[in-house]
Amino acid sequence: MAHFQIAIDGPSGSGKSTLARSVARELGILYLDTGAMYRACALKAIRSGVSTKDEPEIVEMLAKMRLDIVFVEGSQRVILDGEDVTEDIRKPGVSVAASDISALRPVREAMVSMQREIAGKRNVVLDGRDIGSYVLPNAEYKFFLTADPEERARRRLEEMAIRGVTNLTFESVLEDIKYRDHQDSTRSFAPLVKTADAIVIDTTQNTPEETLRCLLACLSGEINSLRETNNGA
Ligand code: C5P
Repeated sequence: MAHFQIAIDGPSGSGKSTLARSVARELGILYLDTGAMYRACALKAIRSGVSTKDEPEIVEMLAKMRLDIVFVEGSQRVILDGEDVTEDIRKPGVSVAASDISALRPVREAMVSMQREIAGKRNVVLDGRDIGSYVLPNAEYKFFLTADPEERARRRLEEMAIRGVTNLTFESVLEDIKYRDHQDSTRSFAPLVKTADAIVIDTTQNTPEETLRCLLACLSGEINSLRETNNGA
């Protein structure tokens, strides 16, 4: 079987990363979280005191920064200038900054080239905003996840609480989500968009297991047979 690619797109909190991680585990393939890369760029800008909307300054910053994506037993680590920032990129403030910086074309071009390089070598599942439309337009399987904004805010709040961040309000998280939804879908270059060939899954009422079953049901028997191989059958 030639290499295959699974693209999962959708707005923040729609369940992409949970789904992509489970799919990767089920099929024994690589999961690349592309949002983490934009988050790393945003973190670098925050730490350097550079505005995430100042394109010339950001281009200069990009030229000097080193970003490495490494996989430790299948789990993605984000290394910024030699430092593991996998946890730091999840801190409050980085999400909105990532949305701002990702609207800049030179940032997207640099990240997309790394993403294509990683995805070209093996069976992969990528999640993001522009995977099916721009990064991997020829992906065999494209999914677009949606969910009500309130449910997505509730999930984000829960996720942050698990990380020990308990000082956020539901309203502030919902506001961030709406800001990012708007910005991600209206930017001029590679916006968040559902392609005509993507399968839509509304996850509002789903458990993560139900969403996973839904996706697996759409894959070919050949690809699903990887599950048995991977699960030791
Ligand atoms: O998915 P996550 O919330 O970690 O992504 C952070 C931000 O990075 C998003 O709000 C979006 O603006 C940007 N992003 C993007 N394209 C991707 C992945 C993420 O523009 N493929």
